[in-house]
Amino acid sequence: MQAAGLESDGRPAPLIGVMGGMFDPVHNGHIAVALAALKALALDELRLIPCHLPNHRGPASASAQERLTMLRLAAAVDDRLRVDDRECLRPGVSYTVDTLESLRAEHETAVLVLIVGADAFAGLTGWHRWQEIFGLANVLVVSRPQALDTWPAALQEEVQQRQVSSGELLCAKTQGSVLLLKDLYWDISSTQVREELRRHSGAVSLLPPEVVSYIRAHGLYAQD
Ligand code: ATP
Ligand code: MG
Repeated sequence: MQAAGLESDGRPAPLIGVMGGMFDPVHNGHIAVALAALKALALDELRLIPCHLPNHRGPASASAQERLTMLRLAAAVDDRLRVDDRECLRPGVSYTVDTLESLRAEHETAVLVLIVGADAFAGLTGWHRWQEIFGLANVLVVSRPQALDTWPAALQEEVQQRQVSSGELLCAKTQGSVLLLKDLYWDISSTQVREELRRHSGAVSLLPPEVVSYIRAHGLYAQD
């Protein structure tokens, strides 16, 4: 773990959040989590990175291009939110560790913070080269309804060694620390959104209005 410091030109090292996922489609829960992370950690920017080819689930319903476009529409709410298409451009399975390695190569001195929901974090030991993630980024775990709060022993051990108690402490190192953010509770999922769209029962309140318009204009999620 390296203390966050200065860049070679004397500027403070940037604080960069990284949020991956299928975003099939992006919903208000994703955006609320992203905005909460920007605020809690005073991030300079947060990369929203849609997954191209997932390892542990079936392919997305919408195409990578459609998911990128919906994310760009949703991300317009704050100019620190940036949509990053590196996983969509990379062939093969989209592994988070590869994404963090490429970001780390581009931003050697940055504080990198991987932002994950508690449901995703509970399954971390199943991710490719999962322990290496802590050598590349800090991790912010955001609470989520229905997420398991019992973790495999190996994950518990990592958290015990790495857990810090504030956003300031999380960003004091460039990588390797873990913060559990427990005060968020957004009961929205893309699965629920897709089901509601298929049943034509709205979902409007779960999505940014620009995303609703895009979905309607392109007839997405009508017959999943
Ligand atoms: P799906 O139901 O298709 O799995 P999802 O809503 O879980 O969709 P993903 O794209 O799988 O969305 O999630 C991307 C990331 O955002 C994951 O780390 C996930 O835990 C997190 N996330 C998504 N929705 C929420 C939410 N409502 N609260 C907290 N974290 C969330
Ligand atoms: Mg999910």
